[in-house]
Amino acid sequence: MNRDTSRDLYDRALDSLPGGVNSSVRAAPVPYPTFVRSGEDGHVVDADGNRYVDWVMGLGPLLLGHSLPDRVTSAIQSRTADGPMFGMPTELEVEHAEFVTRHVPSVEMVRFVNSGTEATVSAVRLARGYTGREKVVVMESGYHGAQESTLVEGQGEPSSPGIPASFAEHTLPVPFNDPEAAHEVFEEHGDDIAAVLVEPVLANKGIVEPEPGYHETLRDLADDHGALLVWDEVITGFRVGGLQCAQGKYGFDPDLTTFGKIIGGGFPVGAIGGKTEIMNEFTPSGDVFQAGTFSGHPVTMAAGLETLRYAAEEDVYDHVNGLGDQLRSGLEDVVEDQAPQYSVVGTDSLFKVVFTRDGERPRNGGDVGDASVERWNRVFRPQMQDRGIMLSQNQFESQFVAAGHTEEDVERTIEAYADAL
Ligand code: PMP
Repeated sequence: MNRDTSRDLYDRALDSLPGGVNSSVRAAPVPYPTFVRSGEDGHVVDADGNRYVDWVMGLGPLLLGHSLPDRVTSAIQSRTADGPMFGMPTELEVEHAEFVTRHVPSVEMVRFVNSGTEATVSAVRLARGYTGREKVVVMESGYHGAQESTLVEGQGEPSSPGIPASFAEHTLPVPFNDPEAAHEVFEEHGDDIAAVLVEPVLANKGIVEPEPGYHETLRDLADDHGALLVWDEVITGFRVGGLQCAQGKYGFDPDLTTFGKIIGGGFPVGAIGGKTEIMNEFTPSGDVFQAGTFSGHPVTMAAGLETLRYAAEEDVYDHVNGLGDQLRSGLEDVVEDQAPQYSVVGTDSLFKVVFTRDGERPRNGGDVGDASVERWNRVFRPQMQDRGIMLSQNQFESQFVAAGHTEEDVERTIEAYADAL
């Protein structure tokens, strides 16, 4: 497969963009990233004209796929034609917030921002401001964006240069699915913990599902110690559990929820949602400062709201979850037959085949951390790409089914996995 144009573009990009890209994960593919020219339905076409079945799907935002329904395109175009943004409120922000509060059980109010990172930054600040406490509990190898309070590992060490140790000491990582570790951290620090920040399903570490009772433990510990439970639904929101999100699916009532990705319909977005009493602590109704020039951007609001309305009125979730089931069960057969060191993970429209050495389903981020990076980067992913299948850029990221995908895409993908494995 000829990818010379991608190679040349990357060569050029290395002069003007650090590492040749604008987000780290994009540079993971070896020997160079594939530059994209266009998308159509469940496919992308690269800069050299090669076509792939695309399971990256924008890293999650593209619930509908690359070809937007006419009603979504015209909502975006007519909004753009009326002027892109104003720095003053529009009706669309109210309508979008009403849609989210109507469907997501725990959410009574919403503050829109511009990325998932911004949402988790603001949620942590709000939790700290509301409780008057400083510490936050996070899951080891969870990901909540490129932000100071959560880029922390081990016993509270910064996971990146540039993050002061004095910030990281307020962050307490615990292993996912380990109720004892959660009890211990609350026993030791309970009076200082502002919030527990957790993804309902770890979706940045090869997809790790919660074991029965785990989220209940976190809910009880937060309640008993006066901390807030914050669910990061940046990936799972309006995907896992459909319009009610993962909290509807698992029957949970977090105090705050962070959103991103799908709610912007492919444009930059994030949001914090939650109980009125807590949300009203944000400025200007309360004292916890929060602001943004682009927040509630009219074009984003139009794209996101029309996408969600479309999903509510058409059979989008049946379609993507059905294809997700077909993929997972087809891939399980392949793995069982010929690659017992791999495990098929995922739920709803998330899927991934991860190398776990023993084929056991991962229980926490550490289990997936054993997955072989070199094997994915140098062998497995390129093999799949040569077979016309675009998988996630590193071995940890989720892969996403969109409304634009077809059964034929699923069959081709299962065949390619069988061949490559
Ligand atoms: N939270 C979770 C669970 C995420 O998966 C991500 C990004 N994939 C973020 C937060 C950060 O979102 P963004 O990249 O839009 O800043």
